[in-house]
This record gives sequence, structure tokens and C-alpha cells, in this order.
Amino acid sequence: MEQSSLIKPVLGGTYPTISHGHGVFLYDKDGKDYLDASSGAVTANIGHGVQEVMEAMVQQAKQVSFVYRSQFTSEAAEELADKMAELTKGDLAYSFFVNSGSEATETALKIAIQHWQEKGKPKKQKVISRWMSYHGITMGALSMSGHPIRRERFTSMLESYPSVSPPYCYRCPLQLDPHTCGMVCASELEASIRRIGSDNIAAFIAEPVIGAAGGVIVPPDGYFQKLKKICEENDILFIADEVMTGFGRTGKMLACEYWDVEPDIVTFGKGMSGGYTPIAAAVMTKKVMEPIRNGSRSIIGGHTLSANPLSCAVSLAVLKYVEENELVEKSADRGKDLSRGLKKLARKYSFIGDIRGRGLLIGLEFVQDKATKKPFANPADVTNAIIGLGTKNGILLYPAAAGLDGVTGSAIIISPPLTITEEECAELLMRIDITFQQFNETLGK
Ligand code: PLP
Repeated sequence: MEQSSLIKPVLGGTYPTISHGHGVFLYDKDGKDYLDASSGAVTANIGHGVQEVMEAMVQQAKQVSFVYRSQFTSEAAEELADKMAELTKGDLAYSFFVNSGSEATETALKIAIQHWQEKGKPKKQKVISRWMSYHGITMGALSMSGHPIRRERFTSMLESYPSVSPPYCYRCPLQLDPHTCGMVCASELEASIRRIGSDNIAAFIAEPVIGAAGGVIVPPDGYFQKLKKICEENDILFIADEVMTGFGRTGKMLACEYWDVEPDIVTFGKGMSGGYTPIAAAVMTKKVMEPIRNGSRSIIGGHTLSANPLSCAVSLAVLKYVEENELVEKSADRGKDLSRGLKKLARKYSFIGDIRGRGLLIGLEFVQDKATKKPFANPADVTNAIIGLGTKNGILLYPAAAGLDGVTGSAIIISPPLTITEEECAELLMRIDITFQQFNETLGK
């Protein structure tokens, strides 16, 4: 029998009904606890049930929850924009608020296009991206995404944007040795620009660390510096999609800080509100905004609920919580503990082929044979089986695409709230060990 009229991601599937959450734990209405080792979809960065956020929510709701952005601004939106400028540092100064990561990446592209229009280059409308990437599910964002499973059913409506190889060193798309390759994958951007013509390209978009589309792929040092240089030399804006990595997830406020690269536009979502409310943003540098601000036309973009004061107040409370509780530093520290523990498990279970990540964004790729990296014949079943066993054992894990075609690999993401304690990390490792043990048994080992 159906649980309710609510549409579920897997039709006919049963999902536990959650009654409440506290810290890194969620509890269903039968009282079972789940250690949220994925922060939902890498979102609940400050954990569940945080008092300060609830207070900010109530306080703002008492004042005003909604004003229309074309009629008014609000103190909450203004304060949040100032906080974003402070946390993103450098020249990143202007925030445009939307409601989801997909809207944020689409907005980033639309602003890039309007930037070039105001500079008298209206042909610059295309965006280049990598063929292992995820920038969102709306048509524009999906067009930029190299995520075959999510694109598949809509291909005729999508632009064929993704064209640059990802830095997937575990399975190099160019079959090169990562130690000596000279990062040819980054140079592909130059070849793409030559083919399409810089006059037609508004921007290049990339996730600093690839998430759902590759099971956490961290680029080698120097990779983003090289891409940024190519963008600059060709008059193309660099959009860093920090929807998953932003605000501490990788052990830095922005993942781009690892490589000292300053994007022209950054997108945020997920951790920006820790899941307490829908809000996301595109943040632009002065250089990007100047021609638009000096131009005669207003920005085309945004949504009815953009910059609504309630979401802005909640996001502000979440970002202050991240700062005041030093969660960026904690993410780096706990990330090291967890990676160490997971590496021990990789020695115990031969199906763990690779462990990669930064801070509390960790990917595990599963293989049939560790030495040859041979993927499982049924990769989706493997991912689902491990996640299913995890849920039974009270640990939530996040599925990711992997493999060179984004289909033939099997991977999960481990990304608990940045508030996780050392004791809770030990509990996480214990629950995942039990889960892996049970999965190993299904392999007849
Ligand atoms: N960009 C990245 C890097 C993401 O990981 C996601 C979602 O997973 C999105 C954009 C889309 O965000 P949303 O699901 O909030 O639309």
C-alpha cells in the first residue's frame, strides 16, 4: 500500500518517515536512529535541530517572511549578501539569491552572458564544461552537466555543452600516467575554445571537486591554475560551482582556496542553509558586475521567492554557526580521522578500489578487482545494495556515478555534518564496517 500521495524518487519504494533529527542523527517514527553520514545530499552541514537556526527562523517569521525582490530588499537579504562577500573574500562581492543549486548555476551563466552583452559582445553565449560533472537538473543546468544518467531522457532538449575531460586520475580518460601527463585534460579546454571560438563562449564552469558525477574527484595541484589562465587568455569567465563544496565541506571555506584560484562567479546551495531552507546563490566579482551595473538594462533572472527574508535569515544563522563553531577547521580534522579509518577498511575489503576526497567530502569507488580496477558487472546494483544495507544498519550513504562513461562505475559519498565528533566518527566507521562485512558476504567472501 502507498505510504501517502507524495511522489517518491523510486516509485513504489518505501522510505522511512522521519519524525525528528538531532546533530548527526535522524530518527524515524518507529524510533530507529540513522547516522546521517551523507548529510542528506551533502547538505546538512551543521547537523539537524540546531537551536540558533530555529530561533533565527522564528524571529524573522515574526518580522516578515516574504517581500518581492523587485519591490523591496530586506535587512536579512542585505546582511546575508554582506556575509557572503566577507566569507568568499577576494573580489567576490555581489550575491544574487535563488532557491536551488540548479538555479544558481543557470543564473551564473545568465549573468555571464549579460556581462558580455553589456561589453558589446552579444555572441558570447555558450558555456564549456567537463563531461563528468553535475550542475543541476533544470534544462540549462543539465545542459552544462556531464552526467549521462540524468541527461539520458532529455537529450533532444539539451545543448551538447560538456566537452572537456575530467581529472579522473584513478581511471585517466586519456590513458595517461598522472605523474607525467602534464595535465593534458586541462589543456583540452584550449582545444575546445579553438573549436567553438572564444567569440561564442561566455564561460567555463567546473566543480572544484567533482561530486555526484564522479564519486568525489579531487584535481591535481596546478590543474585549476592552468584552467583559470586559459580562461583569462581567451576572455572567458570562470564559474566555480561550489554548490556541494561551499562553506567548509572540504576543509576550506571554498574548495577553490586549495589552489588559490579566484573564480569570476561562484555558485552556492546545499550547505549555504544546511538544508534548513531552500536558498542558493551566484556570487560575482566586481569585474563581472561592473558593466552590468553601468549598463542601461536590468538583470534578467531570478524567481518569485529569490532573496525571501525568511530563507536569507536562516542562511545567515547557518553561516554564522559555521564560523562561530569553527566548522571549517573541524571538517579538515575530522576528514583526516575518517579517511584514516576508511583506508583501514579498504585493506580489509577488496571491493574498495579507491578512497579520495578533501575534508568531509570523501568518495569510495567499488571494484571487482582492486589490482586491475575492473568494475562490477552490475555497478548500480552494487551501489544500491551497499546503501540499502547501510540504511538497515542505521547509516545513510549517498550514491554517486563513476566510471569513464558515468554508468559503469560504482561509488558512494561519505559526507557527515561538519559538526561530527570523534566519537561519532568511530560510530560511523563501526556501522559502515558492519555494512561492508554484510556486502562482502553477498559476494561469497
Ligand atoms: N551543482 C552541484 C555541484 C551539485 O552537486 C548539485 C546537486 O547535487 C547542483 C549543482 C544542483 O543543486 P540542486 O539539487 O539544489 O538544484
